[in-house]
Amino acid sequence: MNSCERFGENVFNDAVMQKRLPKETYKALKRTIEGGQSLDPEIAGVVANAMKDWALELGATHYTHWFQPMTGITAEKHDSFIKPRGDGSVILEFSGKELVQGEPDASSFPSGGIRATFEARGYTAWDPTSYAFIKDGSLCIPTAFCSYGGEALDKKTPLLRAMQALNKQALRVLKFFGNEDVKRVFPTAGPEQEYFLIDKADFRKRPDLITTGRTLFGAPPSKGQELDDHYFGAIRSRVSAFMKEMNEELWKLGVYSKTEHNEVAPAQHEMAPVFSTVNVVADHNQLAMEVMKRVADKHGLTCLLHEKPFAGINGSGKHNNYSLSTDTGVNLLDPGDTPNENAQFLLFLAAVIQAVDKYQDLLRVSIAFAGNDHRLGANEAPPAIISVFLGDELTAVIDSIVSESAYNGHKRESMLLGVDVLPAFPKDNTDRNRTSPFAFTGNKFEFRSLGSSQSISGPNTTLTTAIAESLCLFADELEGASDFTVALNTLIRRVLKEHKRIVFNGNNYDPAWVVEAEKRGLMNLKSTVDAAPQYIADKNVALFKKHGIFSETEMHGRYEVRLEKYVKVINIEAMCMSNMAHTLILPAALTYSKEVALTIEAMKSAVPSVSVDAEKTLLEKLGKEITALSKSLDGLDKAIAGQDEELGLLKQAAYSHDTVIAAMDEVRKHGDALEAIVAKKYWPLPTYQDILFY
Ligand code: ADP
Ligand code: MG
Repeated sequence: MNSCERFGENVFNDAVMQKRLPKETYKALKRTIEGGQSLDPEIAGVVANAMKDWALELGATHYTHWFQPMTGITAEKHDSFIKPRGDGSVILEFSGKELVQGEPDASSFPSGGIRATFEARGYTAWDPTSYAFIKDGSLCIPTAFCSYGGEALDKKTPLLRAMQALNKQALRVLKFFGNEDVKRVFPTAGPEQEYFLIDKADFRKRPDLITTGRTLFGAPPSKGQELDDHYFGAIRSRVSAFMKEMNEELWKLGVYSKTEHNEVAPAQHEMAPVFSTVNVVADHNQLAMEVMKRVADKHGLTCLLHEKPFAGINGSGKHNNYSLSTDTGVNLLDPGDTPNENAQFLLFLAAVIQAVDKYQDLLRVSIAFAGNDHRLGANEAPPAIISVFLGDELTAVIDSIVSESAYNGHKRESMLLGVDVLPAFPKDNTDRNRTSPFAFTGNKFEFRSLGSSQSISGPNTTLTTAIAESLCLFADELEGASDFTVALNTLIRRVLKEHKRIVFNGNNYDPAWVVEAEKRGLMNLKSTVDAAPQYIADKNVALFKKHGIFSETEMHGRYEVRLEKYVKVINIEAMCMSNMAHTLILPAALTYSKEVALTIEAMKSAVPSVSVDAEKTLLEKLGKEITALSKSLDGLDKAIAGQDEELGLLKQAAYSHDTVIAAMDEVRKHGDALEAIVAKKYWPLPTYQDILFY
């Protein structure tokens, strides 16, 4: 079979449903998928049965509700289809109830205190808009995960709620432009996934990579990425074998993996899918990360998804390409060709600009966690300051609207929306700004600050809700207007004027931007600890409450989960580092020192007149670094012990950031200095040179 035929072979997709479901059932299910109507339990029973038969034919023995708790990875609990019949025999069964709802014993998933222990169970609910699929002999049902009180305990529920809010508000707005045929509006996303591939044997020798996903020690190699010779370079045969299998596996699961190329850093690569509806893509991205790890392992490789596996070498991000689409196939962030389309585009553009400016803090929080702190603002990734890149052409249009002046020789005083036609914008900006956190790329935005390991659900929930809010305010205003064109022009002009400060087309890595951004009143939330509290700021709680995304309780829960995770991650890294220094690095340095000392003695007794100055200098250097490492290790151990749970999570996180990380930096400095002078045969860890240039 060719890959075209195999595409989606493990997916209970539309074609399979059409073939296997009775016509009426299929139609009812479609109404649920497309119109969001609830599904009749009887129909669920028919669907479940058809799914089971299909899954059994493909060799599945179990089923699982597949969900996305706040750990950021996926969870599953497998049950077999086998039901005892009471007479010693069994039948294979899968009921509508089992399809629609599950009850995983989920007491140990993080909830930020939402779920009291006496009510530890949560339940999972089928998301029929994301197709079921077969993985490792199990039928996986994509589900949302909630508490019995209805609070969201996962990353999918809020995303689905945000999509609903956006749909409602966008439909209100689209009416003004006469789009009566549009029944549904939804966000689309295409996340570009970066990752490193290293040799599994090296990975196994590095406790830091195994435990934390990143190297806690490692002197820079003599050649890093400065020659840029890896970017789009030829893909090594071992890597291309991996990519081939990864693609095949993903295609079978219905994930449209499309592009693949080497990235800037040595051993770094990227995979981009064809974009799709945001909740489906969020599921697919989780699957993609899982498949990448599994396939790498089969090829004797390890796939690293950490944001910063190697210090001094570019880290990995995830570029979240984002747009809004109608069920009639119109991309709402595509300028279009007619005055009417242009005006509609500018209104949606204004909605995004307003959303990003008003909720820049929330967007910043949505990408804040320990791993991503290594990237943001480090001149390899967007800065921690959120801004929007529009490009020169579009900015000129906006300037003309705001200043009511002529645009590029247009005859009129200024552009009259709904009457004038916009100039054509190049869709494929070759001079695209790669330093901007949020860039317009002709017919979509690219939110470039996401970390490579993170679920895309959180950032997309925030972005979608913030845009829904803009559209809601716009609709409120325009619905009451007596002259639509005048009201539209007034609104767009005012919004662009008010929020233009968020637009920045220059070099976001330039230190001058930090100064300029501050002048503009933009927020510079440098770390997770700085960003996290913004999540529960009054205006942000109000936003999520208004659109039915989160209750205040849910938000406080999530705020705590974020901080708790941060403290835990830093603590694990610190302990791992201390352990490696005590048990691997210090012993290696001491053994080598002893060897040098013995060499000096041997040389002197063999030839008393020989000069041992160089050897003594080396020994002194070793001694100095060993002392410094021991001292800094003392500091680290004290810092670890000094973490005080009584302080509360925010202060604990600040302590991790200010005290523990600072102590770790000190230990690393001396550990890496030793790596540079200890003989290779004594060094207990594969070096950056070994790992990156295998
Ligand atoms: P680049 O590396 O130049 O940014 P890629 O081709 O690697 O571009 O990735 C672009 C991504 O944007 C792809 O995943 C693509 O599917 C996605 N994309 C394209 N159009 C849209 C859209 N309308 N909505 C969301 N994502 C889109
Ligand atoms: Mg990109």
